Amino acid sequence: MTLLIEGGMVITNNPAQPLLVEGAVAVEGDKIVAVGRAEEVKRNYTAEEIVDARGKLVIPGMVNAHTHLFQVLARGRFAEATAAVASAPTADKDMWLWNILKKSMFPTSAVLTVKDLVAGTHLACVEMVRSGITCVVDNHYGPTDKATVVKLAEALEKFGMRSVIARGIAPKEKPPLADKVRIPGHVFKYSSEEELRITEECILEVNRQSSLIQVWPAPLSEMYISPEFYAKTHELAKKYDVGIHTHMVEGTADPKLYVEEYGRRPVELLYELGVLFPKFQMAHGTWLSDVEIELIGKTGATVVHNPFSNALGYSPGVAPIPKLLEKGGNVALGTDGVFENMFEALKMAIGLQRVTHLDPFALPADKVFELATLGGARALGLEKQLGSLEPGKKADLVVVDVKKPYLTPLSREVTACGLLYHLILFGTGTEVDTAVINGKIVLEEGVIKPVDEARVREEAQEAADDLAQRFTEADVL
Ligand SMILES: [Zn+2]
Repeated sequence: MTLLIEGGMVITNNPAQPLLVEGAVAVEGDKIVAVGRAEEVKRNYTAEEIVDARGKLVIPGMVNAHTHLFQVLARGRFAEATAAVASAPTADKDMWLWNILKKSMFPTSAVLTVKDLVAGTHLACVEMVRSGITCVVDNHYGPTDKATVVKLAEALEKFGMRSVIARGIAPKEKPPLADKVRIPGHVFKYSSEEELRITEECILEVNRQSSLIQVWPAPLSEMYISPEFYAKTHELAKKYDVGIHTHMVEGTADPKLYVEEYGRRPVELLYELGVLFPKFQMAHGTWLSDVEIELIGKTGATVVHNPFSNALGYSPGVAPIPKLLEKGGNVALGTDGVFENMFEALKMAIGLQRVTHLDPFALPADKVFELATLGGARALGLEKQLGSLEPGKKADLVVVDVKKPYLTPLSREVTACGLLYHLILFGTGTEVDTAVINGKIVLEEGVIKPVDEARVREEAQEAADDLAQRFTEADVL
């Protein structure tokens, strides 16, 4: 079965031929078998299925390296919580992040059912694919029992979304810092042993059955996971050759409180414990010190930058992305829940660095696109399979309709770099027209294929209404 994406301008992310003006991509099964001039590729391959990309742009699919898919159900609650915290007379700016979480995401996660989770996951997948995302790291910390994690994997598999379910872990044996930032008790449901056992069972059940979905351990944050438990998680990750996902140095108050507790900063301590390695993904890294940045570069660990969250979500500050890149750290891009639009994240990543450094070249558009593709692939240890359009790589790609009024006119002297600037500065995500994941078309000329989109929207609204009801009853605020 050969699928041919033909006639478009192809941005490959392959330095050997970054742009094909009239190009084509041939796909057999789940893999790309040819990328070249349309004429040549068409001569060599007979297509059973054709995507007509004439006048459109073909780009590698993007990796959303940090999000919490269920949180799309809590959009309304998040907005209300933000308004409430902002107007509270005792508003403590340093605790802003934790206070919003306590009024929105933590209570939502406490009352979430499998039915809600499936509805939210499919809604989030629709939103992601529509903004060019073909792979996601879902840091799931709602109910994390094995049956729920397996149902989540089934929902992602049904949609055909390439995914890592980073199973959120927060053992009952919590460090004193957890109480200092007042994390609600219900977050700590299982003992350390149980957390490791359930994660291992999920890995055995899901990773061996699916070529698309993996489960990884995700100790939730350095603020409520002990350093010793990170080391135990590292043993589990090594045993199954998976990575570790976590939140790290996000809030303004976090590093100060951490140093008071442990005498040094978290990345320094984790480095001493030997748990940093290339598939160690830390979301945020907003307040990393120079020493921590050096250690990230040295170990090849990844920082997942979440510009929407940095700016409009919880506003903890702006991660030092140029410095991380300069020191050899890997950087990927995430949306961090509530919203899942990667085009907005790309745009915001550029804007934040420009105004922070008063430098229009602080984070170029082609570089930020590289973070969202090859950076994400490296974060997953899948750089040989994802992130660019080259023969032998997995067929994850996106077709963008550049004939939208806000993308018109295009320069006649196109380059890959120029086209990426055009797309990111003026695009919105709504111009994504077709998406292919693992060789399968999941979005075709604007129509979502794996699920009924209208039904998914209805189910998500019903789930959110229902959640709001239980949210009050649960009285977990
Ligand atoms: Zn997060």
